[in-house]
Amino acid sequence: MGSWKFGASAKEFERFEEYARQFDLLEVDLEKAEKLGFDLPAVVEMIRPFENRLYSIHLRYGPDKEAGLDGIDVSLRDLEFFCQSGLTDELRISTFVTHTDSPREYREFEHHLARLGAAAAQYGVTVAVENLSDRKNKTNGYMDPRNPRKLAEVLDVLRNPHLGLCLDTGHAIGNAGLTDSLQWDTDAMRRWIRHVHYNDNVIREDKHLPLGEATNPLLIGNVKYLLENSVHDGVAIFEHKKLDFALQSMAYAQTAGYRGIAAAPIK
Ligand SMILES: [Zn+2]
Repeated sequence: MGSWKFGASAKEFERFEEYARQFDLLEVDLEKAEKLGFDLPAVVEMIRPFENRLYSIHLRYGPDKEAGLDGIDVSLRDLEFFCQSGLTDELRISTFVTHTDSPREYREFEHHLARLGAAAAQYGVTVAVENLSDRKNKTNGYMDPRNPRKLAEVLDVLRNPHLGLCLDTGHAIGNAGLTDSLQWDTDAMRRWIRHVHYNDNVIREDKHLPLGEATNPLLIGNVKYLLENSVHDGVAIFEHKKLDFALQSMAYAQTAGYRGIAAAPIK
């Protein structure tokens, strides 16, 4: 196990073709698309020509005041848009990513994840839930689901094979105290990790820097070790605002000796 592939989040939508030339597997970020003024049908038209390169979709997360929807319900609405219309089959996408954010959501965290997991099971897709940064240092140690360790433990309780962990390395680095290997490599993390948002960071920031810009190479080694010892294979997505940063991360990962870095697409 642990034969991971690599790809990129194509956040510069106007350069989608360039991303598709450089990376075998692409993530489509609906939050970014919305900021750029694209609605879902427009996004579909834009990505349709790249169906052999698409891997995952980053769902939006509420609030959507106009629609009267909040939090995870916005993610569920996006998920339904792609799954009910047959687009998941047509575009060959079976992995979605989301997160939860507000303290109110965290009080009902397991309940929300259970709802998401039920929808994922109904549609036969995987939803990977992303850990978040905590710039204000409000995490309650390992008890806060913004922490990937805690998130993996919640997934361990729910035990829904359609749910998984999306480890955002930059967000994890952003939380002080997630810098040694013991904290990255737990049984629950190995069991539930299905997807990675790979980026570098400094503590208490959320900069999505290229790999190798901020952290000790040992940390990259810890992530590599976790991926090589994970129960599931998955895709590590270089998640940066710019294509150039994603290319920089790719080059760094190649020199770091990741297995499968130049492998063919998995679909
Ligand atoms: Zn992320």
